[in-house]
Amino acid sequence: MALIENIIKKIMDTGVITSKEQLSKSVYKIEIQSEAIKTMDFVPGCFIRLGVGIGQNARAKKDMVRSYSIWNINKEKQTMDLAIATHSNGIGAQWVKDCTVGDTVYYKTKRGKFTVDTTADSYLMIGDLSALAHLYIINRYLAVDTHVESIIYTKDVSELYADIDNEKPFNFYSIEAYQPKEIIAKIEAITPRLKGVKMAYIAGDSRVCIAIHNYLRKAHKWNTKQIKTKPFWNPNKTGLE
Ligand SMILES: Cc1cc2nc3c(=O)[nH]c(=O)nc-3n(C[C@H](O)[C@H](O)[C@H](O)COP(=O)(O)OP(=O)(O)OC[C@H]3O[C@@H](n4cnc5c(N)ncnc54)[C@H](O)[C@@H]3O)c2cc1C
Repeated sequence: MALIENIIKKIMDTGVITSKEQLSKSVYKIEIQSEAIKTMDFVPGCFIRLGVGIGQNARAKKDMVRSYSIWNINKEKQTMDLAIATHSNGIGAQWVKDCTVGDTVYYKTKRGKFTVDTTADSYLMIGDLSALAHLYIINRYLAVDTHVESIIYTKDVSELYADIDNEKPFNFYSIEAYQPKEIIAKIEAITPRLKGVKMAYIAGDSRVCIAIHNYLRKAHKWNTKQIKTKPFWNPNKTGLE
């Protein structure tokens, strides 16, 4: 694996961890400083593939990299912030528990399609702990008078942290993993408040992404362009992307 590790290092950008803070029982905020951030082609919703398994004697390439959303970026200071949850208990979770200020990191920026879209009048944000940073940054880049409804859930709501500016613009709910019926009941109460052109951002557990996407399509006749979904993790897989 040393050869693959060397190739990954060569094609990735490098940075240094400049700050580490525990935001809640199972979430860490990591600030990375990197020269490449100054010229990064950034749009809100970009994420990085982070080399969490580099130098760890990983047995396969899939054990080397995990995806994390850019929660905040400061091009002048050449820094970006991540919020990494540890519910998965995988190599990414272990990496964030173990990493320390001063560590070198390897990463590659990715854009995808789960990025900010300001064309709607009202928005519905749905996600679990893993998706919170991503939904926060999308929300911050919408116009200030945009109507936003949200269902952010996890079993223990005390694990859900505030946004980078210390605001809590979303509604937090205590819901166990994979309970689409509970989420749908909450959507039922919310949808009458969504006016004009509507858009949903749904991220986190792949099963919830699929269930809510199908529900909005069938029960509310939303078209696929209105429903942006991004599975962040799948119970039968390690890593995604
Ligand atoms: C585009 C994108 C952006 C992402 N942004 C973030 C982010 O900003 N912050 C963040 O914390 N995560 C984010 N994720 C999710 C993160 O990449 C996954 O949770 C990843 O699987 C964690 O890696 P791991 O090595 O800790 O666990 P893995 O080895 O990948 O998985 C171990 C086990 O845990 C399960 N699992 C994985 N994630 C979770 C979870 N969140 N809750 C419960 N079980 C889980 C897996 O199904 C598997 O059974 C993002 C994913 C994508 C695709």
